[in-house]
Amino acid sequence: MGSGLEHPNLRGRGDTSARAGDKPISCPANPARGWLYSRTIFKKFYLRSDHYGAHRGLIMSSKVFFTGLRARNDQTSRVVRVRKLFEAAGLGDCISEKDLTAIKIHFGERGSDAFINPIFVRQVVDKVLDKGAKPFLTDSNTLYKGSRHNAVDHLINAIEHGFDYSVVRAPLLIADGLRSKDVRWVEIGKKYFDKVRIAANIQQADSMIVMSHFKGHIMGGFGGAIKNLAMGGASAYGKMDQHSVRPEVIEKKCIGCRTCMEICPVDAHIYENGKVWIDKEVCIGCGECIIVCPEEAIGLDWTTELDPFHERMAEYALGTTIGKEGKIGYMSFLTRISPECDCFSWSDYPIVPDIGIVASTDPVAIDKACYDLVNQQVGFKQSSLKSGWEPGEDKFRGLKPQIDSLHSIKYAEEMGMGNMDYELITI
Ligand code: SF4
Ligand code: SF4
Repeated sequence: MGSGLEHPNLRGRGDTSARAGDKPISCPANPARGWLYSRTIFKKFYLRSDHYGAHRGLIMSSKVFFTGLRARNDQTSRVVRVRKLFEAAGLGDCISEKDLTAIKIHFGERGSDAFINPIFVRQVVDKVLDKGAKPFLTDSNTLYKGSRHNAVDHLINAIEHGFDYSVVRAPLLIADGLRSKDVRWVEIGKKYFDKVRIAANIQQADSMIVMSHFKGHIMGGFGGAIKNLAMGGASAYGKMDQHSVRPEVIEKKCIGCRTCMEICPVDAHIYENGKVWIDKEVCIGCGECIIVCPEEAIGLDWTTELDPFHERMAEYALGTTIGKEGKIGYMSFLTRISPECDCFSWSDYPIVPDIGIVASTDPVAIDKACYDLVNQQVGFKQSSLKSGWEPGEDKFRGLKPQIDSLHSIKYAEEMGMGNMDYELITI
C-alpha cells in the first residue's frame, strides 16, 4: 500500500497530514473513520467539537483510498480491485454481524448506461455477506415521471439494468415504498430544515455502503456521495424540499414540443399558441423539466437559486446519516464520467478518461478527492465541455460556469459531516 505521497498535490488545504511522531488515532465520534491525527491536535481541537460527528474547528485530514484501473493479471482485475479497496478503506468495520445493510445505489434511468456495473456491486455485497450481515440494494423513487417514479417501475428498471439477485446476490428494496409514502421524519435542526423526510428502509437500515457514480450534475455541478445521500436518501417530497427552484420558459427558444409536459409531476406546464409556460402557483420546483427540454428553453435564476439548493441538499445528506454514526462507508467510481447524472435517460460522452475507484468513511473527503482527480485530467474535446480542458482546470465550471460545485461539500463540512482535507492513499 502506498503512503499517499504519489499524489502530493492532493494533500488538501494546508499541511494537516500526519507528521513524524504522530500516531494513528480513531476518531472518537466515528471509530470506523480511522482518521490520522496527532494527540496534540486531538486535545486542542476535538474537545471543542459540538454534536454528532461534528468536528468544527478540528484540523485533520481524512483518508481516501484509491485504486487505478490498469489490469495485467487476475489479481489486478477491476473486480479484485473493488474487493481490495473495500478492505483497505475499512468499510467492513462499518458493518456488524446481522446488520440489515443498505447498499445505496443509483440503478440508472432507463436509457442511461454510465451507472455502476452490477458486477462491481456484487463484490461489495459479497464483502458485506462475509461480515455476517444481510445486504439489500436500495434507492428511492423519483419526483418526476420517469422509469423510477414508483417502486414497480423502479424495480423493473433496475432488473433490466442487471441489478438482479442472480447477479448481485442481494434483494432489491425501493426504500420509500410503492408510491414514496414510506417515510421517516428525521430531526436535524439546521438552517433550512428542522426535520427531513428520509426513505424508511434507508433510515431503518443498521448500516450502509453508499456506492456512487461520480459525474456532472445539472444543478450540483457534480454528483457524488453527498448528492447520493441527499437525493437518494430522500422520499419524493424530500427531493422536492431540496429543489424548490422556480424555472421559467424562455419563450423565443420554446418550439412547443411538449416534452416538458410529459415529465412534470404536477402538470404545471400550460400549452398556448404553440408555446409552453409554467404556472408558478402549481410548480413544485422539482427542476426536471429543465433537464428534458431539448432546446434548453427552460432556465433558472442561477444567481439566487443555486447556493441555497446546495445547502438544502447537504442538510438532507446529513439527515440520511443520522443514527448511523460510524456505520456508513462510501465507494465512488470515477468511470464513464458523464456530464450529466444517471437520472437522464441517456449518457453523454465522458468529459475525461476513466480514472479509478475511491473509498472512504468520510463523504466530504471522498467527494473532494473525486473533484480533484477529475480536474487533474485532460478534458475530452469531443465531450460537452465548453472550457477547462487543461489539467488543473475546473471541469465542472467547464460544463456549468454558473455553479460553484464545491458549495455543497463546504456546507456539509461546516455541519460536521466530514473534512475537505484528505490524504489520498493508493493501494
Ligand atoms: S420541452 Fe422545452 S421546447 Fe419543448 S415545449 Fe417544453 S419548454 Fe418548449
Ligand atoms: S414545472 Fe415545476 S414541477 Fe413541473 S417539471 Fe418543471 S420544475 Fe418540476
